[in-house]
Amino acid sequence: MTDCVFCKIVAGQIPATKVTEDDACVAFMDIGQVNPGHVLVAAKLHAKDVYALDEAQAASIARTVVRVARAIRAAFAPQGLSVYQANGEAAGQTVLHYHVHLVPRYANDGMAFTWPVQNPPRAALEAHAARIRAAL
Ligand code: AMP
Ligand code: ZN
Repeated sequence: MTDCVFCKIVAGQIPATKVTEDDACVAFMDIGQVNPGHVLVAAKLHAKDVYALDEAQAASIARTVVRVARAIRAAFAPQGLSVYQANGEAAGQTVLHYHVHLVPRYANDGMAFTWPVQNPPRAALEAHAARIRAAL
């Protein structure tokens, strides 16, 4: 998928602030931070949605989501953590490459998106990622 943003991140054609990766998936800071510490976990091979994942991708993503969730908890001590996937074009998904959002919650802000999301400078994303990496 040459026109896919996340495939380009996997290929190193678009810069991303990586947290961790293995053979099947990569975790990186979302450039639109719903809250500080917001991470995406994406399959390396293009799979457009949850139904398109193979077993290795599914296992890798689940393991990485759990590891990174614990690291976000250790690094940021949020009140909670929302883990979710987008649900296709009808739900307003903008990148149709399977990924899971990990969004730390710092107040009683429920499940809603904070609007607008923050677009912190790259250095801030790097600082967030460094804290999460240190906790991994
Ligand atoms: P959605 O498909 O609704 O999950 O939205 C795609 C998500 O990917 C949004 O939260 C974007 O902020 C995020 N995103 C888009 N481009 C990039 C990028 N180059 N690096 C990191 N995150 C991105
Ligand atoms: Zn892709």
